[in-house]
Amino acid sequence: MVALCSRAPDADRIVHMTDYVRQDAIDTTWRAVVDTARRTAAEGLVVGTSGNVSARLGELILVTPSGVPYDRLSPDDVVGVDLDGRQVLGTLGPTSELPLHLEVYRHTGARAVVHTHAVHATAVSTLVRELPAIHYMTAALGGPVRVAEYALYGTEELARNLAGALEGRTAALLRNHGTVVYADTLDRAYDHTAQLEWMCHLWLLASSLPGRTPTLLTSAQLAETASKLSTYGQPG
Ligand code: 13P
Ligand code: ZN
Repeated sequence: MVALCSRAPDADRIVHMTDYVRQDAIDTTWRAVVDTARRTAAEGLVVGTSGNVSARLGELILVTPSGVPYDRLSPDDVVGVDLDGRQVLGTLGPTSELPLHLEVYRHTGARAVVHTHAVHATAVSTLVRELPAIHYMTAALGGPVRVAEYALYGTEELARNLAGALEGRTAALLRNHGTVVYADTLDRAYDHTAQLEWMCHLWLLASSLPGRTPTLLTSAQLAETASKLSTYGQPG
């Protein structure tokens, strides 16, 4: 593949990346990043410019810019960084949560990361150390979703806390803050974010009846679900 990055402020750096990235792949992935970010707002998982979305193309990470309403983002607003966080594409500054996104890409096989302030998930993050296994979709996220300790937004400390909470999982809650989910595609990262928010809503509902405690799934039940989910849906 050939590096063709007409909008790069530092084209040399991107040309020397070990994975060369085609301009059409950048354009397509940027569109998908913007569409996913818009979906988080349209479907009520964030308010205003909260949350952020990123996707990985080789050594290049495309990220939403900080504090820009998603409906104002155009194809020309692409923001790209390398795995060290150096900006290699675009003029708008990257999300303030860049440390968190980079932490996920450096330590997992993630191709996409979605961060939201989904309301039920954020409520749960203030109540427990992990989301109890209230539904079998817990298995799709690697097991009961942990809550990362609170740290100021946008800090390396928050990124480190997240890394611990993500061990063996593809999702985590950030205490008093929101959700982080990673996956192999933006669609899956979005879908799992919505599933996580739905499960948090479910748990809040089931655990809110005075004197009643919801039943939970065992690790054996989650393991058999994980195995069955591996062939869920249509072949291929
Ligand atoms: P950005 O607008 O910088 O992406 O910040 C939003 C956010 O959710 C910070 O945690
Ligand atoms: Zn946030």
